[in-house]
Amino acid sequence: MTQREWAEKDYYADLGVSKSASHDEIKKAYRKLARENHPDKNPGNKAAEDKFKRVSEAYSVVGDEDKRREYDELRSALSGGFRFPGTGTGAGAGGMGGMGGRNFDFDVSDLFGGGFGGAGGSTGAGTGGLGDFLGGFVNRGAASGRPKARRGADVETEITLDFREAAQGVTIPLQLTNPSPCTNCNGSGAAPGTHPVTCTTCNGSGFTKEQKGAFAFSAPCPDCGGQGTRIEHPCPECDGTGVTTRRRTITVRVPAGVVDGQKVRLAGQGEAGLRGRPAGDLFVTVHVRPDEVFTRSGNDLEVTVPVSFGELALGGTITVPTLGDKIRVRVPAGTADGRTLRVRGRGIPKRNGTPGDLLVTVRVKVPKNLDDNATSALRSYVEAERASGFNPREDWAGAK
Ligand SMILES: [Zn+2]
Ligand SMILES: [Zn+2]
Repeated sequence: MTQREWAEKDYYADLGVSKSASHDEIKKAYRKLARENHPDKNPGNKAAEDKFKRVSEAYSVVGDEDKRREYDELRSALSGGFRFPGTGTGAGAGGMGGMGGRNFDFDVSDLFGGGFGGAGGSTGAGTGGLGDFLGGFVNRGAASGRPKARRGADVETEITLDFREAAQGVTIPLQLTNPSPCTNCNGSGAAPGTHPVTCTTCNGSGFTKEQKGAFAFSAPCPDCGGQGTRIEHPCPECDGTGVTTRRRTITVRVPAGVVDGQKVRLAGQGEAGLRGRPAGDLFVTVHVRPDEVFTRSGNDLEVTVPVSFGELALGGTITVPTLGDKIRVRVPAGTADGRTLRVRGRGIPKRNGTPGDLLVTVRVKVPKNLDDNATSALRSYVEAERASGFNPREDWAGAK
C-alpha cells in the first residue's frame, strides 16, 4: 500500500464514525464492529473477515491519537492538491528516474525533501511532523525489523493549589478516569490462560511488503494491525485490547516552588498502551490561588508589613509571617516608608541549592482617629520636629 493509497483510505467511514468523533466514540465503534465481525464468530464468512481486517486497520490508526493526527494532516495535505512524486498513476514516476531499477524501501522523507525543498534533503524540513512521521512509518519495519512500540496516549489534567502548597510542595491524591491496563488479562488482551500468537501474515514483523514496479512498499500488516501478534482468544473484559477505562487514584507529588500554569509530567501515568504497550504520560497543569499575605518573585517570597511612623523613625522589631514559623525582623532607625528588607533563605525552597529570600516591604499606616492624649503628644512632636530643623520637603524638587 502506498502512502497515497493509505491516506486515501477512509478509516472514519470504515468505523462508521465522523471525522470529529471523540477518542471514546471511535473506541466504542471499533469494539462493537470487531466483536460483530470477529472471525471466531463468523467462520468461513469472507465479508465479515474483510470487515474485521478493515476495522482493525482503521482503529490502529485513528484509535491512536498521534497516528490519527498525522493521518488527518496527511489527508488534508493531499486534499490540498499535494501529490506524492512517483506514486501517482505514472505521472510522477519519471522524477525518480535516477533510482530506477533499484529495489529500495520507499523513504518518504527523502521524497518530501525533494518535493518541497528541491535540495534532496532527507529531513523533511518545512513539513512539520509529517515528514518525520512518514519516514518513520514507512521504514519502521525495514529499519528495526519490528514496528516501533506505540505508547498509550498522553493525558492532560489540571489541579489548583493554594499559594503555600505550591510554594512548599505538596503530595495530593488525584482521581483519574482513563484507559488503564485491563486487570483481567494484565493488559495483554489475551484471555487469562492463553497467549497472543505470532501473526503468520507478517511473521511477526508487523509489516507487509508489496512490490510495485521498482519500489518495495512497507505497510502495516492488515491482519494484526502492525502488532506482529494476534490474539486468538480475546480477553472478554477488554475485547482483546488489554485496556479498560476505570477510575483510579494516583498520588501526585508537586515539587516546591511550582508556579501558576506550570506543567508537571508524570511518566507512564497516561492512557495504557494497547495490549501491554507502554502507557503515555500524564501532564498536570498546576493553577495556584493567590495568597492573602504573600506574593512571589521567582523564588523570593514577598510580604508587605504595615508599620507606624514611629516604628520607622525610631527603629524596632516587627513580627513577620513566613511559610513556616513567624520571625522577628529588625527595622533600623530612620528606615524610609516603602523600603524592602531582605531576609536571606526564608523564601521559596529551590529543588537544589539555597532557597529564595523573604522580601519584607514596610508601609506606614496613618491613624484615622487619635484620642486626646495621642493628639496632643503628636502636636508637641510636630513642634519639636520643626524646632530640630527637619523639613520633609527640603530636598524635594517640587518645592523649588
Ligand atoms: Zn483484558
Ligand atoms: Zn501481521
